Amino acid sequence: MLMARSKCPSCEHSAFEAVPVVNKTGQSFCLIQCVSCGTVVGAIDDVKVTSIVRKAEKKLNRFLDKLSPPVAALRKKDKQEN
Ligand SMILES: [Zn+2]
Repeated sequence: MLMARSKCPSCEHSAFEAVPVVNKTGQSFCLIQCVSCGTVVGAIDDVKVTSIVRKAEKKLNRFLDKLSPPVAALRKKDKQEN
């Protein structure tokens, strides 16, 4: 999947970083800022970050589940041959 390349509105650099910050009320979130000049281009709350990670984890687990039977079969085969 191709995505449009984001550009910094200030310096047109196209690399960004997520900076974890905590606000006055103790809520944590991430600021998305340009790595070149530090212009903040967006913010995501920590809950979203966590859910994205969880989703990725689920996908990975499903992938590993699919992968496991053939891998397990290969391991059995190895034992039989030895
Ligand atoms: Zn910039």
